[in-house]
Amino acid sequence: MRAEVIAIGDELTTGQRLDTNSQWLSAELAALGVTVRFHTTATDSLEDGIEAFRRAASRVELVVSTGGLGPTADDLTRDVLAEVSREPLELSDAALAAVESRFARRGMPMPASNRLQAMFPRGSRIVDNPEGTAPGIDIDLPRDAGRPAGSCRVFALPGVPSEMKRMWRDSVAPAILAMQPEAGTVLFRRIKCFGAGESAIEAMLPDLIRRGRDPLVGITAHEATITLRIAARGRDESECLAKIDPTERLIREHLGMLVFGVEDEEIEDAAVAAAASRGLSLATSEIATKGCLASLAAEAEARRSAGVYRGGSVLPVPRSHADRSPHDVGGVAAAVRSSFGADIGLAIGPELPGPEPGRTHATIAMATASGIEIVEHVLGGAGSLRVSRAAKSALDLVRRRWG
Ligand code: AMP
Ligand code: MG
Repeated sequence: MRAEVIAIGDELTTGQRLDTNSQWLSAELAALGVTVRFHTTATDSLEDGIEAFRRAASRVELVVSTGGLGPTADDLTRDVLAEVSREPLELSDAALAAVESRFARRGMPMPASNRLQAMFPRGSRIVDNPEGTAPGIDIDLPRDAGRPAGSCRVFALPGVPSEMKRMWRDSVAPAILAMQPEAGTVLFRRIKCFGAGESAIEAMLPDLIRRGRDPLVGITAHEATITLRIAARGRDESECLAKIDPTERLIREHLGMLVFGVEDEEIEDAAVAAAASRGLSLATSEIATKGCLASLAAEAEARRSAGVYRGGSVLPVPRSHADRSPHDVGGVAAAVRSSFGADIGLAIGPELPGPEPGRTHATIAMATASGIEIVEHVLGGAGSLRVSRAAKSALDLVRRRWG
């Protein structure tokens, strides 16, 4: 199958931003056995978009595009696809519900312009976007007159790299595998890891992430959780499983305790399950994390009805410098443990200047009947990411002790 990758955006054609999406997508497509024949980069104009998609539809069977799906006047990919497919844009109730619920979850009213993101060319399919507001478009474009019969399948994704990658992994890659007639069956298994970075994990898995390997192993990182995705193709399910199982064993052998679960399991689920397996209860205390630790623990509790999470205290950012002086975080963990009558007390202290210049750290403590364990956690990344990493590291103490 021949493919073309189209990147859309004035920021790309003017050189203000490097088109990293096309590079990433091309490597992924190659890994699926698809030959990428062309890369096209087009401006945000309707005219250039139409030309790019028309030309692609005349020369390849598969197009993956990124960009131009936002709600603003310069986001024209949906109009381009409507024009090239000669189908009108129609409001999709399912897509509208998805866009609305994203805003509702953030507690924000949906601006009228976002309604646009629920408009789809008639006959097209929606590609779910779990991380943003713009759903993608999956559409068949007609071949130009005079070209061989058949159509060209297009997956149009948003430009934001994290959203694009997630949608690729969840929806587009499986759909492309299913398009290949020789594929037989394709099965996936996701192995979830925590406690080391993406490249460190890759280095621990000699040659497993190699392109062209069978089964294929891909690696993605999201808020410090690393996912290894095994994709196996075979005549039937049992042939796929026969390929996946030894690869999973190999991963577990090499990564040991870094592996905490599979598929949709998150680190908080693994922590709550570990505590539940010993009949232990948990309480939390945190400073300047906007309740991230309590929220993760409560969500896992709600998903598993484990009867583990008792509750926690959430304190705001310290106002004065003096308040940021080293806290007795171990003491806080012990105090929250006793005030909630829990077996385990977890605490995250305030963010403090780190031992190395320019880096900050926070103390994480776990109090149990047998004493207090203290970990100095180095904070990296942007605001919300730092907090979620710290919270996950705290929960990981529980998972490692009893998991
Ligand atoms: P869009 O979906 O066109 O609204 O793009 C949203 C944002 O994603 C842009 O502002 C860029 O920062 C980024 N982006 C878009 N296309 C690419 C690309 N090809 N490579 C890397 N980043 C991109
Ligand atoms: Mg754009």
